Amino acid sequence: MVDERLDEVEETVETVAQAERTRADLSDLRREAQRSNVDGGRCESCDARVDLSMLTEPVCPSCEETFTGVAAGSSWNPFSDPTLRTRSRSTDPVPPTDSEFPPRE
Ligand SMILES: [Zn+2]
Repeated sequence: MVDERLDEVEETVETVAQAERTRADLSDLRREAQRSNVDGGRCESCDARVDLSMLTEPVCPSCEETFTGVAAGSSWNPFSDPTLRTRSRSTDPVPPTDSEFPPRE
C-alpha cells in the first residue's frame, strides 16, 4: 500500500524544492530590508508601494518585475520610502539621458 504513494510523494518533494528556491530569494530581500529597518518600499519599475511581508515571491504584485534588492531611502530622511530594485533597471548601469536633456526647438 505504501508503494502506491511513492510517486505522489516525489512530486510533492519537487514542488517543495521549487518553493524553497523562491523563498530563499524573498528572504534575502527581507533581510536586506530589515538591515535598512524597513518592511517594504517603492517598486523601481512602476513606483507602486510594496509591502515585503505580504509577498509570497520576490515579484512586484503590480508590474510583475522581479526584485533584486533594496536601496535604502535618503539617509537624512528615515521616513522616506526605500526603492525595491528590479532586474530590468539594475542591469543597466548607464543612466537615461534622453528625458533629462530634451531637444531644443
Ligand atoms: Zn512594480
